[in-house]
Amino acid sequence: MNHFPIFLNVAGKAIVVSGGGEAAVAKLRLILKTEAHVQVFASSVAPEIAAWQAEGKLSVTSRALSKGDVAQAALFYAANEDDAEDARVAALARAEGALVNIVDNLQDSAFITPAIVDRDPVVVAIGTEGAAPVLARAIKSDLEQSLPASLGVLARIGKSFRTAAEALPMGLARRLFWRDYYLGAGPKTLEADGPEALTPALEQLLAQHLSAPEAQGSVDLVGAGPGDPDLLTLKARKALEAADVVIYDRLVSTEILELARREALLIDVGKTGFGPATTQAEINALIVEHAQSGAYVVRLKAGDPSVFGRLDEELDACAEAGISYRIVPGITSAAAAVASLSQSLTKRGRNASVRLITGHDTKGFAEHDWRSLARKGEVAAIYMGKKSARFVQSRLMMHGADPATPVTIVENASRLNQRILATTLAELASTLAEAALTGPAIIFLGLAPRETARAPQCLEALA
Ligand code: SAH
Repeated sequence: MNHFPIFLNVAGKAIVVSGGGEAAVAKLRLILKTEAHVQVFASSVAPEIAAWQAEGKLSVTSRALSKGDVAQAALFYAANEDDAEDARVAALARAEGALVNIVDNLQDSAFITPAIVDRDPVVVAIGTEGAAPVLARAIKSDLEQSLPASLGVLARIGKSFRTAAEALPMGLARRLFWRDYYLGAGPKTLEADGPEALTPALEQLLAQHLSAPEAQGSVDLVGAGPGDPDLLTLKARKALEAADVVIYDRLVSTEILELARREALLIDVGKTGFGPATTQAEINALIVEHAQSGAYVVRLKAGDPSVFGRLDEELDACAEAGISYRIVPGITSAAAAVASLSQSLTKRGRNASVRLITGHDTKGFAEHDWRSLARKGEVAAIYMGKKSARFVQSRLMMHGADPATPVTIVENASRLNQRILATTLAELASTLAEAALTGPAIIFLGLAPRETARAPQCLEALA
């Protein structure tokens, strides 16, 4: 990060803009949202600027900027749309101690102006360090849609009630009060009775909280199953419907997240695409922090939480913090995937045990008891196995496995885009390379789809 985001207090300070054309207008639109004294220096100005001047929103000095004009300014914008003139005025402004931005010149600017979503006093600033303005605009438009216009009113009235709320003890009790206001009573009152009803609603809520015993948060570690919402347990559904906070993994499907309570705070801890996933320590901290603030936290994990789910680390974190927890099992992806093959994981006379193994562990490709896995009739479900397929294949062959051993890959088990690839051990790596899977996949060693298994297209048609 080269640019550190901060919110600068410019109330009562000067912001100076050099230039009177389109570039200046664009910046002024944003600057005029503030309580700063805005001064424009330009020999001629666009009609918008003249209108703002007439309304008393800014002052215009009809000449080029010269020495001394920026002396007291907090911020300075060079918006002349002329490189030489911008360089001249920027040098003047720097010498006079202002932070300088040259429009469309990242290199010579001390700061950049973010895209802004304005729900004053709630303000979201989006920056891409000049890398992708298109992306910033897309994020802004997403946020514009998802943040209700009433947010500003809620926050303004909430702010005016902060001193009154100090009657509650600091920390948990106060956070719970504000959570109830912002996520419950506030929006409800606003919708039903308008902004005038908000302060009385706050007073009533405060009285309730002052007389309520301290709430105790709790955590449910819930299996979300392989993706099909119909494969959730009833307990999981109930948990989602009651959750205050849902902390979920990348593999949890959007259809399932939609079942969460509307007011629940949804936290994605497995983002891909925009950057690395949240670390386990951060996830533990998030769970504990929300539970300690009194929330009912649902930690939603793909499949079953006890299968390759780092469950114990999260349980330890809860136990250490003295937070009560419960585990709600889910359908693990191997169970869903084997169903799609119309096969069973164990079968009399074929295999009396089945192994759930991982393709890689913390040290890299995972080692297993290859000799026993190579025996005829063995069945194993390999999780996280796409990358290690060639390694698994060569290890098994080295230990005498029959190259013709059936192997079946199930991608996106239970989802509409489920794919089943039936192959053999000898062909495993090449089948995977050719298929270029993008979704999560289970690799079954020792299982082929039953002849009568429905093709995935049929599943799609049925859904
Ligand atoms: N706790 C999960 C496993 C988490 S490890 C469970 O019980 O299923 C992540 C791995 O699970 C993926 O790499 C993939 O191998 C498997 N997986 C998760 N969802 C899947 C799905 N819908 N289809 C196939 N494999 C899936």
